[in-house]
Amino acid sequence: MPIDFTPDDRVAELAARTAEFVRTVVVPEEEAHGGVVAVGGDELRSRLQKAAREAGVFAPHVSVEYGGHGLDMRGRAVVFEEAGWSLFGPLALNIAAPDEGNMHLLEAVATPEQKERYLRPLAQGDVRSCFSMTEPAPGAGSDPTALATTARREAGGWVVNGRKWFITGADGAAYTICMARTSGSPGDRGGATMFLIDADTPGLRIVRHIDTLDEGFFGGHCELEFEDVFVEDDAVLGEVDRGFEYAQVRLAPARLTHCMRWLGIARRAQQIAVDRAGERELFGSRLGDLGMVQAMIADSEIDLAASRLLIWQACAELDEGGSAAQSSSIAKTFVAEAVGRVVDRALQVCGALGVSGDILLSRYHREVRPFRIYDGPSETHRWAIAKRRLRQAPGPGRTLDERTQHA
Ligand SMILES: Cc1cc2nc3c(=O)[nH]c(=O)nc-3n(C[C@H](O)[C@H](O)[C@H](O)COP(=O)(O)OP(=O)(O)OC[C@H]3O[C@@H](n4cnc5c(N)ncnc54)[C@H](O)[C@@H]3O)c2cc1C
Repeated sequence: MPIDFTPDDRVAELAARTAEFVRTVVVPEEEAHGGVVAVGGDELRSRLQKAAREAGVFAPHVSVEYGGHGLDMRGRAVVFEEAGWSLFGPLALNIAAPDEGNMHLLEAVATPEQKERYLRPLAQGDVRSCFSMTEPAPGAGSDPTALATTARREAGGWVVNGRKWFITGADGAAYTICMARTSGSPGDRGGATMFLIDADTPGLRIVRHIDTLDEGFFGGHCELEFEDVFVEDDAVLGEVDRGFEYAQVRLAPARLTHCMRWLGIARRAQQIAVDRAGERELFGSRLGDLGMVQAMIADSEIDLAASRLLIWQACAELDEGGSAAQSSSIAKTFVAEAVGRVVDRALQVCGALGVSGDILLSRYHREVRPFRIYDGPSETHRWAIAKRRLRQAPGPGRTLDERTQHA
């Protein structure tokens, strides 16, 4: 498929304004708060979002009807990368996980009433949300079919029981989108349903904040308990038993938007390394004149360029109405690992300064590492990529036509 990689004028102009906004307004706040947005609390979040609205860069992904710029996936790739230049950029633009993925899902699946009640306030930045899928073992993780949380039918609604963990943003979220089993048993490929559950619903409680390597997500990563949580029929998002299908609607774009944001941080890390390599003198030359440092800078340039193209390719497929199952898995696996390499090399180039708290590189290092696990661990994606490819392998009972039609 031929792909035009040139952003149109509107996207290019919005990306330029986003870059300017992030560098002048957001980066100083990031530096003042050590890169941990929770330190500034809701006051900081509101202040950043107000500034983004005034700069005309708020909610680039949401449709115009809900107050956004209505960018397609290719447009998002360009603008989100600019927002990702700072750890605080995505929150300022209201494109941080998990809200951004939830907005995408709600736009695609919710009823008009649900959109008014849940999407509009989320798109405006008035509330936050979370997405509850993963469960402690032996429940859903890399294998979503292990889903053990149940929703039992009762007069006028459903009763949800189960435990979720690593639910990003749960503390302070107004509601969660919760995946629960409405039919079948753990291990079955179907039978999941998504529910919109208000945070103050009786029986829903935050058990604890999980202490993690990263600290960059507002509202932390929480363990949640659902004990006899009753929700009415209108809490069902989409149709009963189609939750796994809707998860795909959310997951492919959401893993790409994570890639876009983290690509921004990787570029920032590379800039820090390049600046240091230009300034620091040792062994009678600039750091950047030493071959092994040049190799690190070059390898990172290659990782950045390849990451961007893989993201754009998968985005183009989604924009053309494709599933991007294979291309988004390839992009996610490569980018999650590449951004880790880029940040790690930048840290090495900076020496002891790199691991210190004097600059933000060590913070970036902690923030990017978990991306190799969430939105599908690298191994799960590699497994899926290989399985799809191997379906095209010659095998007994398959004609040549069958073998080549997927190539
Ligand atoms: C920072 C962070 C934020 C998160 N936020 C959310 C959230 O908001 N909502 C939510 O629902 N979940 C969230 N998660 C959970 C995340 O989606 C899961 O961690 C992920 O799906 C993996 O599941 P698991 O942790 O149970 O690992 P497991 O399923 O136990 O897998 C463990 C390891 O097994 C290996 N593995 C997996 N599949 C294969 C395979 N096919 N072949 C070989 N090896 C394999 C991988 O190395 C993997 O890391 C978050 C996780 C993290 C770390």
